[in-house]
Amino acid sequence: MKKNVSLVIPLHNEEANIRILLAAIHQVFLGLPYNYTVLLIDDGSKDGSMRVVREMAAADDRINFISFSRNFGHQSALKAGYDHAKGECVISLDADMQHPPSLIPEMLQRWEEGYDVVYTIRGEEAQISPFKKRSSRQFYRLLNRISDVEIEEGTPDFRLVSRPVLNVLKDLNEYDLFFRGLIKWIGFKQIGIIYQQQKRVHGASKYTFKKMASFALQGITSFSIRPLYAAAYLGFIISLFSILYVPYVMFSYFTGNAISGWSSVLVTIAFFGGLQLMILGIIGVYLGKLFMQAKQRPQYIIQEHLLHETP
Ligand code: UDP
Ligand code: MG
Repeated sequence: MKKNVSLVIPLHNEEANIRILLAAIHQVFLGLPYNYTVLLIDDGSKDGSMRVVREMAAADDRINFISFSRNFGHQSALKAGYDHAKGECVISLDADMQHPPSLIPEMLQRWEEGYDVVYTIRGEEAQISPFKKRSSRQFYRLLNRISDVEIEEGTPDFRLVSRPVLNVLKDLNEYDLFFRGLIKWIGFKQIGIIYQQQKRVHGASKYTFKKMASFALQGITSFSIRPLYAAAYLGFIISLFSILYVPYVMFSYFTGNAISGWSSVLVTIAFFGGLQLMILGIIGVYLGKLFMQAKQRPQYIIQEHLLHETP
């Protein structure tokens, strides 16, 4: 019996890419001794993606889909894929052909060698903007410095995970999902392989600067509480300094120079105002996470699905 491999593909407005990607996957598996099934996760697409998805799934019973009631985000779509995929291992990849299906044989080979997670690392010549490259590098540096999980630079959500890992992922019910960190955190036998990222075939990236920034903040605050400590230390150090400032103020008062302190008072007020807002902000982000988690809402809502029975 051939082993069954599931491919999980989150997509949001990828109408023009779906057929191309599925054809490429089909080609790759022609030469491999595995059965495959595809699970497309439509993350609230507004274009004709769903029409294409329905057509493809009706014509080929290896193709399954789940469609969300609205846009829940890439990580939630991945979670739905991990929750519902039935294969002995799952490979997740983007719908825009940036994650080349030609890497699948190597991933499967590593899995057969006994690795539970085969993650990928973007090679140097990746076809992405210099800005994205730089911001991504800075983000991973910061994340690694302040959290306990070590994530290599440029590791996207293009990976293979084995059934034992999937069983763990299914039970994780974090509201703010950040799979790159979670995968590292859960352990098991892992290996990274390098690939050259391609250009997006059609359409534009859905990760705007705003989305990337919020993703970065989510990643850091999901894996580290050190910013909270940093805020506390900073507050402590600054109050120490302000206590040292008191003798100076008294001195000025007694020597009759009090009014000349006007500018220093303004500077101090502005500085402390900013500092307090920043620290409150940090605390607020964590409080917000607790709030969202406390509500226990599902990470996604399925509106429509077609999951073929596969052996
Ligand atoms: N995606 C998604 N939901 C979103 C945004 C993106 O499911 O809200 C999908 C998208 O269709 C693609 C993958 O996530 O398959 C990565 O997105 P994109 O290519 O836009 O990001 P980039 O490669 O620029 O980081
Ligand atoms: Mg992309």
